[in-house]
Amino acid sequence: MKRTHYAGSLRIEHADQRVLLQGWVNRSRNNGGIIFIVLRDREGLVQIVVEPDSEAFATAEKVKSEFVIEVEGTVSLRPEAMRNANQATGDIEVVAKSITILSEAKTPPFLVDGTIEGDSVNEDLRLSYRYLDLRRPEAARPLLLRHKISKAIWDFLSSEGFIQIETPLLTLSTPEGARDFVVPSRLQAGNFYALPQSPQLFKQMLMMSGLDRYFQIARCFRDEDLRADRQPDFTQLDIEMSFVDQEDILVLNEALMAHVVKTALNKDIDIPFKRLSYQDAMNRFGSDKPDIRFGLELSDLSEVFAHSEFRGFSSAIQQGGCVKALIVPANHAANLSRKGLDALEEHAKTHGAKALAWLKNLEELTGPIAKFLSDTEKTQLQNLMNDGDTILIVADSWKKTCEALGAVRLRLAADLNLIGDPDELAFLWVLDFPLLELNAETNSYTYMHHPFTRPHDEDLARLESDPGKVRAWAYDLVLNGNEVGGGSLRIYQYDTQLKMFDALGFSKEEAQARFGFFLDALSYGAPPHGGIAWGLDRLVMLLSKTRSIRDVIAFPKNQRGVEPLTGAPNKLESKQLADLHLKIEDA
Ligand code: ASP
Repeated sequence: MKRTHYAGSLRIEHADQRVLLQGWVNRSRNNGGIIFIVLRDREGLVQIVVEPDSEAFATAEKVKSEFVIEVEGTVSLRPEAMRNANQATGDIEVVAKSITILSEAKTPPFLVDGTIEGDSVNEDLRLSYRYLDLRRPEAARPLLLRHKISKAIWDFLSSEGFIQIETPLLTLSTPEGARDFVVPSRLQAGNFYALPQSPQLFKQMLMMSGLDRYFQIARCFRDEDLRADRQPDFTQLDIEMSFVDQEDILVLNEALMAHVVKTALNKDIDIPFKRLSYQDAMNRFGSDKPDIRFGLELSDLSEVFAHSEFRGFSSAIQQGGCVKALIVPANHAANLSRKGLDALEEHAKTHGAKALAWLKNLEELTGPIAKFLSDTEKTQLQNLMNDGDTILIVADSWKKTCEALGAVRLRLAADLNLIGDPDELAFLWVLDFPLLELNAETNSYTYMHHPFTRPHDEDLARLESDPGKVRAWAYDLVLNGNEVGGGSLRIYQYDTQLKMFDALGFSKEEAQARFGFFLDALSYGAPPHGGIAWGLDRLVMLLSKTRSIRDVIAFPKNQRGVEPLTGAPNKLESKQLADLHLKIEDA
């Protein structure tokens, strides 16, 4: 290559070296005779100086932003006073000997200037010209980190005996709980492939094939409503292992994560990770993916209010629910205005609560509900509180109470700045999930993870008698309040799998029709096995401290599922539709 260095990689130690750089003009300005060009490439920016008597001067006068140029020159130390400590290349500059214009550029629709914050430009516009957007080193940085993370995963897992195996993209649907994307088949008229929601069944069948240890950085597809951290096509690190128990999988994943974080961020993390049962996570933090970087844990007040005159509390308990609270310490509570409390109540309501009651511990307990409480109840509450504390109370079913207060807890953390170190990485396992969950609308049980998760042996008998009490061998990996992974030990016995389908309300015939091939595979000798999938996009987002998973994907879709650069999805020509045996009816 002609290029000797990346512009952004030049440092003091390159002083006096002759370099040849190729890149984009970030900015150029004529400073009364001397022309300064800031040259940009993948690794960053460097200042080029063109003296009036330089051969390069005439060309330098012509360059504009986003022109692609080649610069030959010598690295020179900047005079002390001109050094810029905020720039990686701020100690030096390149004195140009010659400049060649390789490509001219139209005026871009937004300034690509590497020093400009991406957020100041409308995101759809940035994504429509993503190739310009990615010229900003700040925008390219997460993709570079993503590469490092993927490589670290490959290296670590290969050294642990895992084999990378690709599984089909045009396939049958697997039940991960979302809607499928489907692809019409031309050769099999009227039939559709589904794009995989995950490689779940294939990776399990690879274990039944005897391949023992599998991984794949796999593309997955789920047709869900989009949120800031969701994309219709996304990437998982998918892992499966044979002849293991839960502990083997957790330990392997901790070592893998430690390796990834060390390689990508040069940071040591503590392993083993903390562990919480699902029950404790919900009871203490109001979430199955708790952010443990701050305290503010939930307290249970069900005993205090079991027989309360205040029906709002006691009736929730009598109906099998509970009363729980968050106690905001005085130093923070002082910042909670009436308006702030109203906003918290609104927040609790959008997360399922009917109301959020509050009381302040001043001289006495004050607040809108104080007059409904008995003296004993007030004293019991005050025993839990310090002077000046505010208590926030929700009464409802157990799950709603936990989740609403969990949401309030997170909101308080943001409002009151409770998260101290922005670089902290708080990993955690959540374990012992229930296998099944009651769907209140249909009054039937549905799986919490997926239908292939193994129940605890001791609980098997309860599958029929008390399905809600069956524990699963399932685990989620949580980082700073985000679920970054989830997996389980799998059912590996044909009969158990049939029982599970039965508990989910599938008849034997339905199970056979949908998953016959898989049930068959189970009946030819399946090893005990289990695995996990990491949400790679989300992990890269958290490790690169970007705000959306769109920032860590080269060509992401927007909130409406449109890919703004190409305009996908689009309409088909009538010939294409005919080939696919499809007719479009006006919606
Ligand atoms: N297939 C599961 C998922 O995508 C992960 C697993 O169980 O390995 O959530």
